[in-house]
Amino acid sequence: MKSQSTAGQGMLLLDLPDDNLSAPPKARPERMGQTVVEYKDAAGILTKPKGFMAGYDFTINPYSGCAFGCAYCYAAAFAPAARKPEDWGKWVVVKQNALELLRRQLKKSRSGIHDKSIYISSVTDPYQPIERDLELTRDIIRELIAHQLRLVIQTRSPLVARDIDLFKQFKVAQVNMTVTTDSEEVRRAFEPGCPANHQRLEAIAKVTAEGIQTCITMTPLLPVTDANGFADSLLATGVKRFIVQPFHAKKGAYAAGTKETAAPLIEKYHWDGDGYVAVRDVLRARLPHLGEGKDGFAPV
Ligand code: SF4
Repeated sequence: MKSQSTAGQGMLLLDLPDDNLSAPPKARPERMGQTVVEYKDAAGILTKPKGFMAGYDFTINPYSGCAFGCAYCYAAAFAPAARKPEDWGKWVVVKQNALELLRRQLKKSRSGIHDKSIYISSVTDPYQPIERDLELTRDIIRELIAHQLRLVIQTRSPLVARDIDLFKQFKVAQVNMTVTTDSEEVRRAFEPGCPANHQRLEAIAKVTAEGIQTCITMTPLLPVTDANGFADSLLATGVKRFIVQPFHAKKGAYAAGTKETAAPLIEKYHWDGDGYVAVRDVLRARLPHLGEGKDGFAPV
């Protein structure tokens, strides 16, 4: 049954699932901290990926732009030309018709979509701050349950733990939490808008404790002050799968770290290939199932 969209200034125009029909309309914040929030219709939502994510059948990006504004973010390279590179992190566009588009696309693909692999999200964080208010990612995931795609969620946000109830309804679902360093100083330098390391570790521990398959992605691995202490904190989450990837200083559309603003930080912290290898080798010795680079991102 199609739900009633709510029209009007300040209301989100989403086609909600039936169990949300009685829910009050969601507010549409126009700003989250330093980030301006815009609301636009997208042309499509279920996308066939290329490049780094080509192993997946589909990706979904409920937002474009990302309030987390990581200094190394490769997604900035995919921003519309009108957006200045230095403004990455200061804008986010909500794909306000995402749910309606998804339902239309799923209907068209009904015959062949069951059991396909899907990655959420490749060029935005699906649990960035605006998601707390809008629950757009949550609505999308709830819509996917009936189709039982093989779901991989990728985030740097503890908000992902909110949706444990939905992940439990998939036969195959994995939550990936990115944690790039053991140092809050390094985290603040490279990921100023992101939640603290300990919050991410606590959240993925909670998701893991609920019996959901999880993975910690150190992508890219940033300077680490104590490799063994870092391994201890990773193991303490109960997570059994890990992925590590080096920071790439050179440009490349699908590399882990390609945004030029991160280069001076890399120099400041003297983070080079030798440093990466030394930390990776400790992690390899201590952690079970450590995948490296693109191979680590195979669909579940
Ligand atoms: S959270 Fe992900 S998408 Fe957002 S800025 Fe950081 S790397 Fe980019």
